[in-house]
Amino acid sequence: MIDFKHITRETDLYNFHTHTQFCDGHAPMEEFVVEAITQGFSHLGFSPHSPISVESPCNMSRESVQDYFNEIERLRKAYGDRIRLYTSMEIDYVSAGDGPASDYFQQLPLDYRIGSVHFIPSLVDPTEMVDIDGQFQAFKVRMGKYFNDDIEYVVKKFFSQMMAMVDEGGFDIVGHMDKIGFNASQFHRDIDEEPWYDKLVIDLFENIMDHHLVIEINTKAWLQRNRFYPNLKYFGMLKHYNAPVVVNSDTHYPTLINSGRLEAIKLLNVL
Ligand SMILES: [Zn+2]
Ligand SMILES: [Zn+2]
Repeated sequence: MIDFKHITRETDLYNFHTHTQFCDGHAPMEEFVVEAITQGFSHLGFSPHSPISVESPCNMSRESVQDYFNEIERLRKAYGDRIRLYTSMEIDYVSAGDGPASDYFQQLPLDYRIGSVHFIPSLVDPTEMVDIDGQFQAFKVRMGKYFNDDIEYVVKKFFSQMMAMVDEGGFDIVGHMDKIGFNASQFHRDIDEEPWYDKLVIDLFENIMDHHLVIEINTKAWLQRNRFYPNLKYFGMLKHYNAPVVVNSDTHYPTLINSGRLEAIKLLNVL
């Protein structure tokens, strides 16, 4: 297991959440490595969306996993003297036994694992898993089609899936822990300011701390949406409890590898 606390105490540049040609990223792995070296990074972790049991165009297939490992080996040989490269996956938690803790993911030779929730069960047909992570326009359509516009159900289900994932374990970093907050607050303004919503985030935070997991501060949306995951208002809580954090750009483009990261680090430090 990587000592994230050690790495993130340094002033070194790092990113442990990177999407490439193996999932829905927009460039080959090598371009990310070259860009990272150019920008002075010393650590770069790749985290393709994992193979998944539900229909998803964003996730890699099991068949391409070996190619992914081969490519990282090739890149380590070519660039390993200039940057440390890590093999990971952003593993979807789908349902009990179908997530990071499953035998399949546990036996893969990954340097670390990110656990994330992008799918929750439909309210109309609970056997159907629905992507609630994408753009708001698509989310809005799905709210009507799969959730009878019941935003409270969606928010509560997202956090109960996160809680179940943390309870099952098998991973190191909790990916974008309150990501539903953005789409939910677009659908129902300020829902993420309501006390019951806050309590869901705080309960999840406490569970993460009990399980000694690392919390990701995800900066992907900072530039466009002015929002971190977890939301800026929770940074004080992270600081107060001395939570282990990594600040990741969740980038899908080489040029955005450091996007929002320094702003988040600065804000964390002034609190
Ligand atoms: Zn994600
Ligand atoms: Zn991601």
